[in-house]
Amino acid sequence: MKTIRMEDMNWPDIKEAIAKGFTTVVIGIGSNEQHGPHLPEKTDSLIADAISYRVAEKLENVLQAPTIRLGCSEHHLAFPGTISLRSETLKSIISDYIESLEKHGFRTVVLLPCHGGNFTSVQEAIDELKERHPQLRIIGYTNLKGFIDAQINIAKEFGITPEEGGAHAGEIETSFVLALEEHLVAKERFTPGYLGPLGEKEIKIILEKGMPALTEKGILGDPGKATAQKGHVYLERNVEFLVEEIKKQLK
Ligand SMILES: [Zn+2]
Repeated sequence: MKTIRMEDMNWPDIKEAIAKGFTTVVIGIGSNEQHGPHLPEKTDSLIADAISYRVAEKLENVLQAPTIRLGCSEHHLAFPGTISLRSETLKSIISDYIESLEKHGFRTVVLLPCHGGNFTSVQEAIDELKERHPQLRIIGYTNLKGFIDAQINIAKEFGITPEEGGAHAGEIETSFVLALEEHLVAKERFTPGYLGPLGEKEIKIILEKGMPALTEKGILGDPGKATAQKGHVYLERNVEFLVEEIKKQLK
């Protein structure tokens, strides 16, 4: 097989792959939202696409469905370019993906949200769709804290503090984009964003009042120490982490 990316395949090859046992499909879910003055709007979708492809590769007999490139980004709407879906819209899109994929013979669907604002909606979609499609196995990694902690722990090994690594457009996401599409990173605009604590109280402020309430630049973290080299490590280790988590659910 030339590729496991369904959007790059033709129908006879997809048909043959399913007949051969490629009956599991991975769907990455990103966003189109501001990522500070230095990263592209597609940052989360770029990361979701790269992670999903590699997870599909490592799990074997898995195809990658087209990445959902929009997500729930209401708290970023104060910045130009952000396009946000309502939670209901995202859940409807996931539902339509699953209706279509089931018709072709897929039996297991793995959902991989890579943008914080999508995690709750994706878990709700899984709960609802499981009931409507009892013959399908619908799973995903929807533990946002687990997802963030996994990244922060890798960053710590590089001497990056959780505050610098950041939850949004900080050292971690900036390294990812440097590794994947360096030409889209405006390095001359690197500037520290919000570097204070990020607990329940702060998350509540962001969700209720929007990102500018905490950071006028739209950054949680500091991109200053980001490198493409670290980005490749983040990518590889993130994939390993998700593969292990998904394997547990596939047992
Ligand atoms: Zn992001």
